[in-house]
Amino acid sequence: MIPISKPFLTKEEAQLAYDTILTGWITQGPRVTEFEEKFATYVGAKYAVAVSNCTTALHLAMIVAGVGSGDEVICPSLSYIATANAIKYVNAIPVFAEIDPVTYNLDALDVERKITKKTKAILLVHQIGMPADIDRFAELAKKYDLKLIEDAACAAGSSYKGKKIGSHSDLVCFSLHPRKVITTGDGGFVTTNREDYYKRIKLLRQHGMSVNDRVRHESNKVIFEDHIEVGYNYRLTDIQASVGIKQLEKLDWIVNERRKIAEKYNDSFKSIPYLRLPLEEKGYFSNYQSYSVYLKDGCPVSRNELMQQMLDLGIATRRGIMTIHRESAYKNECENTSLPVSEDASDNSILLPLYVPMSDTDIDYVIRTFMKLITT
Ligand SMILES: *Cc1c(COP(=O)(O)O)cnc(C)c1O
Repeated sequence: MIPISKPFLTKEEAQLAYDTILTGWITQGPRVTEFEEKFATYVGAKYAVAVSNCTTALHLAMIVAGVGSGDEVICPSLSYIATANAIKYVNAIPVFAEIDPVTYNLDALDVERKITKKTKAILLVHQIGMPADIDRFAELAKKYDLKLIEDAACAAGSSYKGKKIGSHSDLVCFSLHPRKVITTGDGGFVTTNREDYYKRIKLLRQHGMSVNDRVRHESNKVIFEDHIEVGYNYRLTDIQASVGIKQLEKLDWIVNERRKIAEKYNDSFKSIPYLRLPLEEKGYFSNYQSYSVYLKDGCPVSRNELMQQMLDLGIATRRGIMTIHRESAYKNECENTSLPVSEDASDNSILLPLYVPMSDTDIDYVIRTFMKLITT
């Protein structure tokens, strides 16, 4: 059975987790600090705060951006549901905008159409690792005095205009879930260049506590902490961070390997007129967190049939990116939402297996099987 995805973890990660456990310091401590410094350096941001996952990263980003009750935040519906949930957590309203059918990223014209007096922020998703046009949305944000927050859950290791995702704007949120390119089991980051955001996010992720456990532990003076505001427990543990430090060292290599596989898929499928393949325009560099193919009219097999036939032949696939507005949790409030491009992209796209290391035999088997099923 060829899975859709597999984390790239070795004895090296296991050894570091083992070592950390034996130090006796297992929750947020020195390994988290080290991981944060290395992640900030890697993406080229001034600061990185490690948190428990990308959903909590997005929640904290909403808070520090000042998004609150009744505010509108424009985001894609074609995304993982956590994108919109994070907006709900601060009692704000997700307003779904259309996507570009080729890149699956937000359509700037539709975003601009959906800006109202209540709009507070744009939540920009880099879909399955393909960077969105950050400059275009930064311009919009500036023009209408909005905050720009990036949901870069899938985009660790991707770049836009020669700089790593995480360096461009004031609030960028990452995921370290096993379905992403590098993992700590669960985990996430907020990166920022603003010191005020950095300080407040750090405070909020540890119960609003003025000094963290480590500072208190290492001090030779008695310290009494204060809880400055109502915070959360969104900490990453040192066990996870030690895994992440090793994963981060491998990130560029992993991305490179993923891109080679994506290129093989592209080369094999490009002659089929009824397929739309991922497009990486100049200035955009994807980590290929997923490889998505869109089946145009004229494809002799339906997406769902194709998924079943692939599974019968030992290959796991996934449907295209979901649409949030059609999920039960959002259906009622989105009764009047019309997003034909997003729905079409979601319903007619298929994700193919892509992981590291993936053997040439397995890559060839996926290519041969897929080609056979869509051409007969
Ligand atoms: C995976 C994902 C999330 C959620 O990340 P977690 O770390 O699982 O909380 C949010 N947004 C997008 C676009 C994602 O793909």
